[in-house]
Amino acid sequence: MPSRLGAAQRMKVADDGKSAAIIAEQVRLLYEGVQSSMLSSAILAGILVFLQSDVVGLYPVITWAALFVATLIGRMILLRSYRRALHGMAPIFDSARWLLRFRVGLVLASIVWGLASILLFPNQNLAHQTFLAFTLAGLSAGAIATLAADHIAASFFLLMVLSPLAFRLLSEGQGIPLAMGVMVILYCGLLVANAKRFCRDIIERKLAELALDTARLQAESANRAKSVFLSSMSHELRTPLNAILGFAQLLDTGDSLNDEQHDFVNEIMQAGQHLLALVNEVLDLSKIESGKLDLLIETVVCADLAEHCMPLLRPLATKFAINININGLGNLAFRADRIRLKQVMLNLLTNAIKYNRPGGLVWLHVMAGRGGRKRLAISDTGLGIATDKLPMLFQPFNRLGAEAGTIEGTGIGLVICQRIVEMMGGEMGVESQLGKGSTFWIELPPGEGTAE
Ligand code: ADP
Repeated sequence: MPSRLGAAQRMKVADDGKSAAIIAEQVRLLYEGVQSSMLSSAILAGILVFLQSDVVGLYPVITWAALFVATLIGRMILLRSYRRALHGMAPIFDSARWLLRFRVGLVLASIVWGLASILLFPNQNLAHQTFLAFTLAGLSAGAIATLAADHIAASFFLLMVLSPLAFRLLSEGQGIPLAMGVMVILYCGLLVANAKRFCRDIIERKLAELALDTARLQAESANRAKSVFLSSMSHELRTPLNAILGFAQLLDTGDSLNDEQHDFVNEIMQAGQHLLALVNEVLDLSKIESGKLDLLIETVVCADLAEHCMPLLRPLATKFAINININGLGNLAFRADRIRLKQVMLNLLTNAIKYNRPGGLVWLHVMAGRGGRKRLAISDTGLGIATDKLPMLFQPFNRLGAEAGTIEGTGIGLVICQRIVEMMGGEMGVESQLGKGSTFWIELPPGEGTAE
């Protein structure tokens, strides 16, 4: 057990109906404003004492100043203890208790400021009365900002400070003081109403933040759970699948099977290969989505990479009678991860062969991209893709209807390619015409040796 807990952990859940997080936020905002409000009220008090001492006499001024200094010291001590508690000096941080302490300090301060209208009020002196009214009105306006997080404290403070002033002005009975008294009452009402509105806004904002945080945490944990599930499932599936494929191959090589049985074994192997490809791609996608894919970025010459892909593609190209031309790449080079770029290239070339017409053509070339950049393009003379289907192209498991045909696939290859290209700081796109063919392109940061 750690002996010291973090500030957030130390917040006890308050049982007064509001959530602990909202009270903690209120406490944070209130104590944050204490220092500046103490400083400005000390300046105001100094000026008030200095100016009113000429007209109300020394004794009331000294009494009020002594009370003011006493509450100021009290609030300074409170602020210091709050900061110590917040930074881990106290074993438990109880927000509700700190809110109560703040309110007690504020009540004392408001009583002292209310007393200003009794002790420092100059009878029959309009100029000094107006100055006192201005001082207290300014103080109240400032309090609205610093106490906005707690409308009960703010309303109490305003009433305690302004009602004695209104009472004294009204009791002058006539002329400007009477009018000022009425105005102070209106002003006080306005401020109290605004205090409630400010406080509601702050609490609503906090609630929205909390809801957002909770939703984000839930989404993150669901995503993590999904990735863990997918990767463990993929591992669990691959082991028995490899055994099935291995034994099917053994059966196939033996002489004991007749032709029909050989066909059955081939079916098993084909279905197994398909399942293995699916499992591998799901594993790849979950790795990419959980950010676990490590990239080694270096300069990769595209023509070299295409050369390395050719032996892997030849059987498929022969099966579909497709001609592949890789001579159009010039000195194109990208800053990319060699293995992952090869994976993308293989995927796009495989598609260009699979979704082609018998005796069709596939060729690699360079296309102009945005800002003078160059793109690696893979074009085919195949089936093409209808314009209305293009937006669905990079959606996982969406085969755009190819699942109804005989061409095998999983519908994840392009999604994986796009994510890999984006992770390497690039972009991937397609141009296609139904019945004429497609061009898939990738644009990546240029490598050394490629003129931009
Ligand atoms: P898969 O090929 O395994 O189905 P992909 O994610 O690679 O999955 O491709 C998704 C779909 O996009 C394919 O099923 C196919 O309908 C379409 N497609 C991809 N490449 C081409 C292409 N070169 N020409 C026509 N259609 C294509």
